[in-house]
Amino acid sequence: MHPTTPLRPEVATPIPTGDQQRRLQAKRAQVRQREEQEGKLVVQVRKEQQVVAVNREITIGEGITVKELSEKLGIKANLVIKKLVERKIFATINQHLDVKLAEELARMFGAETSHMTFEEEAAFSDELAEDPAHLVTRAPVVTIMGHVDHGKTSLLDAIRSANVAAGEAGGITQHIGAYLVQRNNRGIVFIDTPGHEAFTRMRARGAKVTDVVILVVGADDGVMPQTLEAIDHARAAKVPIVVAINKIDKPDAQPDRIKQQLADRGLLAEDWGGDTVMVPVSAREKTNLDLLLEMVLLVTDMLNLKANANRQAIGTVLEAQLDRGRGPVATVLVRNGTLKVGDYFICGQVFSRVRAMYDDRGNQVREAAPSTPVEVLGLDSLPDVGESFQVTTDTAKAKQIVLYREQKARDIAMAKGRLTLEQLHAQLKEGEIKELNLIIKADVGGSAEVLGETLQKLSNDKVRIRVIHTGVGAITETDVLLASASEGIIIGFNVRPERNAVAVAEQEAVDIRLHTIIYELVDEMKKAMTGLLEPVVKEVFKGRAEIRDVFRITKVGTVAGCMVQDGVITRDSSVRVLRDNVVVHTGRLESLRRFKNDVSEVKSGFECGIALANFQDVKPGDILEAFVTEKVAQVIFT
Ligand code: GDP
Repeated sequence: MHPTTPLRPEVATPIPTGDQQRRLQAKRAQVRQREEQEGKLVVQVRKEQQVVAVNREITIGEGITVKELSEKLGIKANLVIKKLVERKIFATINQHLDVKLAEELARMFGAETSHMTFEEEAAFSDELAEDPAHLVTRAPVVTIMGHVDHGKTSLLDAIRSANVAAGEAGGITQHIGAYLVQRNNRGIVFIDTPGHEAFTRMRARGAKVTDVVILVVGADDGVMPQTLEAIDHARAAKVPIVVAINKIDKPDAQPDRIKQQLADRGLLAEDWGGDTVMVPVSAREKTNLDLLLEMVLLVTDMLNLKANANRQAIGTVLEAQLDRGRGPVATVLVRNGTLKVGDYFICGQVFSRVRAMYDDRGNQVREAAPSTPVEVLGLDSLPDVGESFQVTTDTAKAKQIVLYREQKARDIAMAKGRLTLEQLHAQLKEGEIKELNLIIKADVGGSAEVLGETLQKLSNDKVRIRVIHTGVGAITETDVLLASASEGIIIGFNVRPERNAVAVAEQEAVDIRLHTIIYELVDEMKKAMTGLLEPVVKEVFKGRAEIRDVFRITKVGTVAGCMVQDGVITRDSSVRVLRDNVVVHTGRLESLRRFKNDVSEVKSGFECGIALANFQDVKPGDILEAFVTEKVAQVIFT
C-alpha cells in the first residue's frame, strides 16, 4: 500500500478591508509592471537569438559554470542567463550547469561541443604540455584469468612468493589488491583479484587497467566455459593473452590437448606457427614461472607502454576499505605521473589530500611512480572500485566538481527510487543475492518482536532478511530516513505513518507496507521473494477528519461530530479509525451528513456528522482516515 500525498486544505478568500484593498491594488500594479517588463524581455531575447558564439567549437567540462560557458563561447554571460530564463531556469553566473544543458545552450549560439570529465580535462591539459623526451617505459599490469580451480590463485601466490618475498626483509607481502614483481630489473604489476568479473567491472567503469592477460588453463582438465568467457572478455578489451598451461606436474596433464582446444578457439600457439605465447607451468612446483614472466615482458615490449613520471598523477582505485585505525584506505594503481604525499586529488565524489602511502610490502613511501600500486590514506570517504584518481592543483575547481557530483548522484538516486518489494523480485531475477533490510513498527512490543523473528526466518539462499529496527507506535520520519539510508522497507503492523513521515517517504521513495493480519504480511513477503507478488491493491488517501464530539441518538446510534482537516470525506470511501496513530477499526460509512442532510462528500474546513457501520466505540480526538482502494498492476510483470 502506498500512501498518497494528502490534498492541501482549501483556503477561503477573506473579504479585504479598505486598507488591505489599497495594498492589493498596489501589488496588482507591481505585478502588471513586472509582466510588462517580462514582455519586453521576450522581445529582447528574440533579438539576441541571432547572437552567435565567437568560438564555434568548444569542449564542455563537468560542472561548467555559466561564466565558464560564456567565456568559452566568447559571448557575454547575461546572454546565456537570458537563454536560461527563457527555459524557466533562474541561474546565477557561478551556477554549475548540467552537461546536457550546457551543450544545448552552446548549440543555441551555433557552437559544436565535445564533452570531457574533470579528470579527462586535467589529463588532456597535461598531455598538451608534455615533452616526449620525458616519456619512459612503464611496467605492464597483468590480470590472471581462467576457469575455476585451474590454479589462478595458486599461480598468483607462487609468483609473489618466488619474486617478492625472496630477499625482502621479513619476506611478508601485504594484500593491497595488486603487487609488483621484478624480473631482469623490470617490473610487472599483478592485479590480485583473478578472474574476468573484476576485470570487466573495472572496464564497465571506464577503467582500462590491464595491459596483458595471463589465461590459466589446467592441463589436466582442458578448455572450460570460463576459459572461453575469459578469452572473450580479453578480446573485447583488446588486451593480448599469454596462456599459462598449468598443473604440468600432474601425471594426467595433456598440454598438447590444451593447445589443440585453444587452436579451435583461434588461439594458435607459437610453436604451432601461430602468435599466441603459451607457457607450460606448475604453480605447485614453481616450474617455469620465470619463463612466464619473461614472456609477459616480451609481449609487453610490443605494446610500447610509456608514461611520464613528471606530471600530476592519474590512477585507478583497485580496492577501498574502511580500516578501523586508519579510516578510509584505497589501493590506487598509478597509471601515469608520480603520486606524492601531500598531493590534492579528486576521486569520484571524494576530494582529499594524500596523507600517507604504503607500498605492497607495507613500507611507507613518499612517492609512487607510474605502474605502482600503493595504499593511499587521507580520504574523507570511500571511493568506488574502478574510479579514476586524479591529482590536481586546481583545488577550488575540484571542490566544485565534487559538490556537483554529489548533487548529481543524489538526483540519480532519487530518480531511481529506493528498493521496493516489487524491485526486490526484479533484482532476484537478475541473479543478485539481496539483503532485505526491514524496519518493523507495531502497536505493541510483543507483536513487533514476533514479526521480526517470523520474517527473519523467511531468509533463504537468495534473500537474507535483516530486521534493522523494531519499535512500537506510529511510523515516524526517523524510521523513514533510516529506511532510506539503508535501502530498507518499512512494515507497519496495526500502526500508521505520521503525516510528515508520509511526505518524507514519498520524497525518498521509501516503500511502506501496512498490514493488520500477520499471515497476510508473511504471505506478501514470501510472494515477493519467490516472485509471485500479485497485483497490489493500492490505497488512495482521500481525507482526514477529527472527531470533536460524540452523540448517541436513539434509533440512529452513535454519530461522530467531525471536522474535516484534510482532503475530502466521501460517502463511498472506507474509513480507518485511528486513536494515537493506532488503528482501532476499519470499515465503511453508515451515513455522512451536513446539518440534517445526507451528502455525498464533505470538504476540508467543514463540519459533518459521520456514523460508522458496525462500530460505535468512537471517542472525541479520534482521527478518521478516508480512503478508497484501487487495483494496480505490478511493474515487474509488464
Ligand atoms: P583458482 O580457482 O583458479 O584460483 O584455482 P586455485 O589456485 O584455487 O587452485 C585449485 C586447485 O588446484 C588447488 O587445490 C590447488 O592446490 C591446485 N593446483 C593449482 N596449481 C597447481 C599445480 O600446478 N599443480 C597441481 N598439482 N595442483 C595445482
